[in-house]
Formats: sequence, C-alpha cells, structure tokens
Amino acid sequence: MALIIQKYGGSSVADAEKIKNVARRVAKAKDEGNQVVVVVSAMGDTTDDLIKLAYQISEQPSDREFDVLLSTGEIVSSTLLAMALGSLGYRAISLSGAQAGIHTDSSYSHARILRVDTKRVVSELKKGNIVIVAGFQGVSGKRDITTLGRGGSDTTAVALAASLGAEICQIYTDVEGVYTADPHLVPGAKKLKEVSYEEMLELATYGARVMHNRAVELGWLYNVPILVASSFSDSPGTIICKEASMEVRNKVIGIAHDTNVAKVTVVGVPDHPGTAATIFEALARANISIDTIVQNASINSITDLTFTVARTDLLKAMSIVEPVAKSVGGRQCVTDSTLAKISIVGTGMQNTPGYAARMFRALYQHGINIQLITTSEIRITCIISEDKVKDAVRALHQAFELEKET
Ligand code: ADP
Ligand code: ASP
Ligand code: MG
Repeated sequence: MALIIQKYGGSSVADAEKIKNVARRVAKAKDEGNQVVVVVSAMGDTTDDLIKLAYQISEQPSDREFDVLLSTGEIVSSTLLAMALGSLGYRAISLSGAQAGIHTDSSYSHARILRVDTKRVVSELKKGNIVIVAGFQGVSGKRDITTLGRGGSDTTAVALAASLGAEICQIYTDVEGVYTADPHLVPGAKKLKEVSYEEMLELATYGARVMHNRAVELGWLYNVPILVASSFSDSPGTIICKEASMEVRNKVIGIAHDTNVAKVTVVGVPDHPGTAATIFEALARANISIDTIVQNASINSITDLTFTVARTDLLKAMSIVEPVAKSVGGRQCVTDSTLAKISIVGTGMQNTPGYAARMFRALYQHGINIQLITTSEIRITCIISEDKVKDAVRALHQAFELEKET
C-alpha cells in the first residue's frame, strides 16, 4: 500500500462544490489502495481577507495574534473536507498543524519547520483514516501558533511527505502544471513535462508562485518526487525531480516575474570597511531577506548602497535602515516600490555565453529600462518598472522561443 500526500490550493477548495470535487478525488486515491494524507490551503481569498480585516482593526497587528488569525483559514477548509469525505462514506479526520506535529521556530509570519512529529498522523493512518492536515501552520516551542509564509501549504505537504517517507507529493492547483511562464500572463506558455529541483527553486524564489520555494528546497533535500497538476482535470502535470532529461537541460526553461519588490538606496555612505556589515547585520537580526545588493564605485570615499527587499517588508526594513544608516554617516535613504523582477532560468545557461546579451536586447527592443541586474549560475534577473512587467515576460518568452514544442 503506497502512502501519498495530496495538497489542494485555495482555488481548489474555494467553495462547497469545489470541496466536494476535492473529496471525490481524494476518495479515488483511497479506493486505489493508497494511504492518503491531504494538506489544504484556506478557501479562495480567505487569507487575503483575514489580512485586510486585521489591518482594519489595527495599524500594526500583534505578530502572535496575526498568525493565529491567519491559521484559522486552513482550519475551516480542513474540517469541511473531512465532513465532505464523511458524507461520501469515508473515514477522515482533520488535524491542525500543531496536532499534525509540525514544529516550527517562533518567527511569526515566516516560521521555519524544525521537525515533524508524525506519531498522530501515523496512528490515524493505521486506523484507516484519511488524514486532512491544515496547511501553512505549525506550533512553536512555546506552544504558540505560527504560519509559514504566503503559499506555505506547499511546504507543509512536502515536509509531511519527507517525514512520512511518502511515495510522492502531489500538488493540485488551478493550472495543469509548471509552465514556461505564468499561463495567466502568457497565453502561449507551454507546460513542462519535468523540471529539476534546482530550476524550480529558482523559478519559485523569483516569483513563479505555483510552488512555494521552501517546499521545493525541502523536496530537493529529502529527494521527494513532486507532481504539480490540476485539481480540475486528469491532465498529467509536471514532475519536479533531480535531473530533467537532456533535451530540456539545454536552454532557458522558464521566465519568472515578481511584483513584490521594493528598492532602498542609502545615499552618501562612507566607503570604508564595516559600513555594509552594520547595515545588513541589522536587517538580518530583524529577519528581513535582502535580494539584490549593488554598491556604486565611490567618489571621495563616499558611495551609495542599493538593495531590494519584498515590498511587504519595506516599512519594517526602513524602520531599521534609517537609524542605522544615520549612525554610519549616511546622508539619506530613498525608496522605490514601483518595481518588479523579471528572471530567465535554465541549467542550460551554465557556462554558455550570450544569454544575458539576448535578454538585455529583448528588453531594450521593447523599450524596457533595466535598473539592476543579478545573476546565479542558472538565472539572470533584471529589476524593471512594474508597469512593464507583462511586456517583459512576453518579450522574453518570445526571445527565448519558449512557445515552441520541445
Ligand atoms: P494554489 O492556491 O493552488 O496554491 P497559487 O495561486 O499559489 O495556487 O499558484 C498557482 C498560480 O501560479 C497559477 O494560477 C499561475 O497564475 C501562477 N503561476 C506563476 N508562474 C507559473 C508557472 N511558471 N507555471 C504555472 N503557474 C504559474
Ligand atoms: N492560505 C495561505 C496563503 O494564501 C497559504 C497557502 O495558500 O499556501 O498564502
Ligand atoms: Mg500556492
């Protein structure tokens, strides 16, 4: 008997009919002789609605209360799915993240899973139950509820798959797999049959929200095969695995974009050892992730330091950077939150010249100005104006001939 993990995203459980559809799919997997653990996201836009509600009540909601509030979305969907399975005549039990043994650190809003205590899930499976776990949440060492960051239910699913030794982790969503670009933005985007963990991690980290990046990281680390497929069809989907086949290694495999980007420039800082360390240590202590960092060549030992953060972290980042910048002699801090990131990804780029030039030319031909550039071995990212992001994705999709069948 195989153990499989299925995860259903918000759009797959958006209303009662959709929850019943998911129940039928889960029941089918059980009928096929599998042990099934299901992870669910909150219904539709519930998480966004809860966030709005919190900010209607308070300008700066307490981190602890905020996470408890957000975790309730997944509790609702998990209980309803258990009821739907019950109505179909199946034995199912819902568990919160804490009940399912998801132990995290205590960094509210982006808690990391430290370990999964699988005892309860295993004992429910042994009783013959289908186990429904509320995604996106865990419990800290102090027994407080935490959440794993937006899109974090994928990470719950892969963490459970790794800890339970599941055969596969199936991520069911509103598209039929991982595409060469967001199919809602590029109508000609092609579904990939397979993609490597490494490439998927870059795509997810740089905006392809079809998978949470930490889920991909965990899958890679524990070698969990991940299937991304639609909860509304039986189309075969995309497999995320160690090595994609030779043909798909040899090129750019996808374009990712992200509009959750803000830029901070610390103007007029002294160009001497320790300045960057002081600024970035302060941000690290506050758990703020920094992406691109650029320091200009100095004039008269004074320079400008620019970096990007998630737009949702900008206020917090500024409250830290402004006093620190002042303390190291910086003149002022300026921000821009009308930016976006656009990235090309593919292992085929490694050690092959010409990809950057082709990317920059395509953007230039569409009148798109590049503000900052960062690269990894298998990715090139440009920071551009947010209002150009759609044009940029489409231009790059065309320039790298991604609409062609592979
Ligand atoms: P879920 O609620 O199921 O977790 P998400 O909204 O988080 O779903 O992720 C699915 C969405 O990801 C798709 O609707 C699509 O618009 C978006 N997306 C972005 N990039 C890609 C890509 N490369 N391939 C597939 N979907 C993508
Ligand atoms: N409900 C959470 C969110 O909207 C987690 C998830 O959907 O994965 O971010
Ligand atoms: Mg998601």
